[in-house]
Amino acid sequence: MTRDTLLIASGGMDSTTMLYEYAERIALAVTFNYGSNHNAREIECARYNCERLGIKLLVIDLPFIGKLFNSSLLSGADAIPDGRYDDENMRSTVVPFRNGIMLAIAAGIAESEGLTRLMMANHSGDHAIYPDCRPEFVAAMGGAIAAGTYEHIVLDTPYTNISKTDIARRGAALGIDYSHTYSCYRGGARHCGTCGTCTERRQAFAEAGIPDPTEYISEQ
Ligand SMILES: [Zn+2]
Repeated sequence: MTRDTLLIASGGMDSTTMLYEYAERIALAVTFNYGSNHNAREIECARYNCERLGIKLLVIDLPFIGKLFNSSLLSGADAIPDGRYDDENMRSTVVPFRNGIMLAIAAGIAESEGLTRLMMANHSGDHAIYPDCRPEFVAAMGGAIAAGTYEHIVLDTPYTNISKTDIARRGAALGIDYSHTYSCYRGGARHCGTCGTCTERRQAFAEAGIPDPTEYISEQ
């Protein structure tokens, strides 16, 4: 199969599952270091899985985001609220237009590298809080990327309408070891277990009926 795809890989469960599911088509994975609490641990996981699959990983620093953007995700572990992932209080963790910025950079890199397809692992559970994960955003951004590149690069987001539980099921079928993925918005050595992303991660394993390999600080 032709390797025609650039994947935006964060090191979390969703993009790691996509990395394995589409490994044969992925020529390059790109991850962004934008100053979030959990960037360092996420990137470590992205690096581990890319190395395992023999896929080149590019780490791109975006230091201005941490300086100029307003988000609790950029402000240390104590600023992160506990709660459910789709709760209104999770809005403080949104990094404004993050996916738009990352996709724009990734589109430029894809065109430079002669790649014709971009992949991003947004899913249906993201829609409630994150505007730049919703189908209308993906359609509009996909249109802009296709129109703005000579090769009419295609944006492909096959998880847009499936849940994290579905993603965990797919990953388990692919034999993915999720202990080498990271989700916690607090960014500690162990997952906190109570922030929105930890709650979502735990719920996905439970609903999928898959053993959760994550070590949480708090078990509830
Ligand atoms: Zn957490």
